[in-house]
Amino acid sequence: MKTVDLVVPCYNEEEGLEHFVLETNKVIVSLPEYSFRYILVNDGSKDRTYLLMKKLAKQFDNIKYISFSRNFGKEAAMYAGLQHTTADYVVVMDADLQHPPHIFPQMLEAMENGYDCCATKRDEREGESFFRGAFSKLFFRLSNKLTDVKNPYGAMDYRMMTRQMVDSVLELSEVQRFSKGIFSWVGFNTKWISFKTVDRELGTTKWKFSSLFKYAIDGITCFSVAPLRFTAVMGAVIFFISLIYILITLIQTIFFGITTPGYVTTLFAVLFLGGLTEMSIGILGEYIGKIYMETKERPIYITKFSNFAEENNEEKES
Ligand code: UDP
Ligand code: MG
Repeated sequence: MKTVDLVVPCYNEEEGLEHFVLETNKVIVSLPEYSFRYILVNDGSKDRTYLLMKKLAKQFDNIKYISFSRNFGKEAAMYAGLQHTTADYVVVMDADLQHPPHIFPQMLEAMENGYDCCATKRDEREGESFFRGAFSKLFFRLSNKLTDVKNPYGAMDYRMMTRQMVDSVLELSEVQRFSKGIFSWVGFNTKWISFKTVDRELGTTKWKFSSLFKYAIDGITCFSVAPLRFTAVMGAVIFFISLIYILITLIQTIFFGITTPGYVTTLFAVLFLGGLTEMSIGILGEYIGKIYMETKERPIYITKFSNFAEENNEEKES
């Protein structure tokens, strides 16, 4: 019998987690030829998510959990979950049922047909504001152009992968993880399927616009040095234009004397170039910051409790 591990990052999901497990179980029982296991990762939730996990693990023996010492972010939670997988196929999915389990049969069919990965992309973005939609479109276009990562528009983390692909994903052990990029970067045959997105029923989204912006920047800078090259090219272009301009001004001054006060030129030199310099330093800083964080080689997450190794890791009742 083939095995499937479901990796589910959870942050403050006390409202929806049980519902998620019950709904997913309905799909699981309809697929008796596969053996499913949950790997729930509690990403430092501030609510009762962990207690709920423990309760669910007592109730269902195919539920494993890992609980972090604090909030490390969804990327870290996914990595931790993937590290603990052993199954033939591995699914990464959210705990809020926005990644519907009812497409497991479709995913499994793709895998049995020889794909290494069956990933999802969203079809409709009804629930999304115009601004957010335009922003994500711009991001997708930019990152596909600038990086080795080629994802279709609306690509999501929700996917099923073979053991081999998961092992490759785990080999990229960088601290600053951008999973959508990593999944694409490792290659393999991916089948894209789409489904109609639904709004979150229980609990609230953990994303703010500011974190989306950071996500977009990381998506590009984690996989490409094109922004650095862009600043270098920009610098070179401005340098040559300035050279020509200086030459012209010099000739003018020598042959016709000083004619105009050069108000616009001064403004340009101070404001425009100042802004450009700041921006270039910012881009540099973005990369230096990334190097700095990577050189520390800190662990991606820290486990506090888990029921993987019951004997030494389990919570000590005191
Ligand atoms: N999540 C997490 N750590 C975080 C934020 C989110 O593990 O710091 C989990 C969350 O519990 C959910 C998934 O990541 O299972 C997606 O989060 P959310 O639904 O808030 O994001 P959205 O669906 O709005 O993109
Ligand atoms: Mg969600």
